[in-house]
Amino acid sequence: MNGLMLQKQLLISSLIVHADRHHGDTEIVSRRVEGDIHRYTFRDCHRRARQMANALTSLGIRPSDRVGTLAWNGYRHMELYYGISGMGAVMHTINPRLHADQIAYIVDHAEDQVLFFDLTFLPLVKTIAGRCKTVKAFVAMTDRAHMPLDTGIANLLCYEDLLERSSSTYVWPNFDEDTACALCYTSGTTGNPKGVLYSHRSSLLHTFAAALPDALNCSARDVILPVVPMFHVNAWGIPYVACMVGAKLVFPGPGLDGQALYELVEAEQVTFAAGVPTVWQGLLTWLEQGGLNFSTLKRTVIGGAACPPAMLHTFQDGYGVEVLHAWGMTELSPLGTIGALKARHLALGPEDRCALQSKQGRAVFGVDMKILGENGQELPWDGVSSGDLLVRGPWVVRNYFRNEGGNPLRIDADAHGWFPTGDIATIDADGFMQITDRSKDVIKSGGEWISSIEIENLAAAHPAIASAACIAAKHMKWDERPLLVAVKQPGAQVTAEELLAFFEGKIAKWWTPDAVVFVDAVPLGATGKVLKNQLREAFQDYLLPT
Ligand code: ADP
Repeated sequence: MNGLMLQKQLLISSLIVHADRHHGDTEIVSRRVEGDIHRYTFRDCHRRARQMANALTSLGIRPSDRVGTLAWNGYRHMELYYGISGMGAVMHTINPRLHADQIAYIVDHAEDQVLFFDLTFLPLVKTIAGRCKTVKAFVAMTDRAHMPLDTGIANLLCYEDLLERSSSTYVWPNFDEDTACALCYTSGTTGNPKGVLYSHRSSLLHTFAAALPDALNCSARDVILPVVPMFHVNAWGIPYVACMVGAKLVFPGPGLDGQALYELVEAEQVTFAAGVPTVWQGLLTWLEQGGLNFSTLKRTVIGGAACPPAMLHTFQDGYGVEVLHAWGMTELSPLGTIGALKARHLALGPEDRCALQSKQGRAVFGVDMKILGENGQELPWDGVSSGDLLVRGPWVVRNYFRNEGGNPLRIDADAHGWFPTGDIATIDADGFMQITDRSKDVIKSGGEWISSIEIENLAAAHPAIASAACIAAKHMKWDERPLLVAVKQPGAQVTAEELLAFFEGKIAKWWTPDAVVFVDAVPLGATGKVLKNQLREAFQDYLLPT
């Protein structure tokens, strides 16, 4: 027997309609590429998103067509989020930090029909425009006064011109909630980037879960600063969450340095910010150097890479900002786990609490996880046994766009499909998952695993170290041994011996790296993660006799 409740499709457009109707005068503030601060409201955003839907229609965009964006976090990008998906087309956010050849490949693979871009990326667009065979129009996200001249790009349009000549009368169409709404390619550190195609339903369900108190905990009383880019995994869903709960949004645009972020946090009274550890490092350095403090910031969610306990400690104990450590991936829309404490953890002492919060956290409702041992057997949730992490749920990828790379799922004995994350993890009795490594970055010494993340976290806690990466180096006797590649704080002095002595008593002796190499900088990928494959290439023979 079916239930007798109304059927209403879960559609992206419903979010902006809700935000307009119930929070119409709530602000969206953006630092613009043009240099100034722009402010308007959800009502304005909704009106311009409707104009955008009409503009796209006039450009020949039809449902299911892909429309690319190369843009920072800002109000025009937000209008595209709703204009493109709302009309039934697919918003394809492109990571501008990828190599130009990869971007050209992605645009071609996605068959983007129109490509919107911020002026920052004009040089990039110039180099790839000739190779983007499917793109019928390029749109510079600016006004007439800032339009670049003599670009050599055929069919270059101006965003504000396009909106100006489009009516704001538009009724969002109703369609099947399983329709695709957005496309995001993984960074592709190995092989070609693979496209993850989100649906309206998966995105809406993800939004409900992300807003929950033990997830991002967002409300109409919040002012949210998403520093995580809208060009990668939809800024962790924050542009959707803000509409659902009616929170004020503050977009940093291209200003991602410590000073620019701090000024925005203070000026707009930000209560909640989201970003990867590398971005927060810059902000914390700025505060420390200037002897500054936060006056309104209450919470920050840190993810995308492991949050070093030292950073967690500085935020919480130094500045009174609660840290939520989260884990996810492009294939998970991206939220999988988040480190919100349970009632019994509130009584923990500062060190135990910090240790728990350094784990990647508990699964949000909707995400099932399990860890498997080397023979595929399911491992206990004892906080010690570590194995391959698999997940499933309504916002987990089922297949990559155009079947790239084949079916990624592993089918279990009950015929359920599980997505292998490529991460190695433990899960404790409270359900807190902890990533010990990426499977491809694992260090296997004498047949036993060493957690590179744990070693990196410890190194980052040394006052003279700015950042560190631990990699597997080939070894005559043990096959592999850990090698620490470290970057010193500006002006700081520390020797390899001093750094290694710092590990004493903190980890098993045989986990201690065999050597330390100091470098000026570690290579970072397009999403701010250390490119360990490059470090391995450079240093994998370091421990071998020459
Ligand atoms: P990419 O496109 O580079 O794969 P993703 O954002 O999809 O970018 O990266 C997902 C991966 O990032 C995860 O599989 C995991 O290895 C790593 N990751 C994400 N969050 C965390 C975290 N909090 N701690 C450790 N690793 C993380």
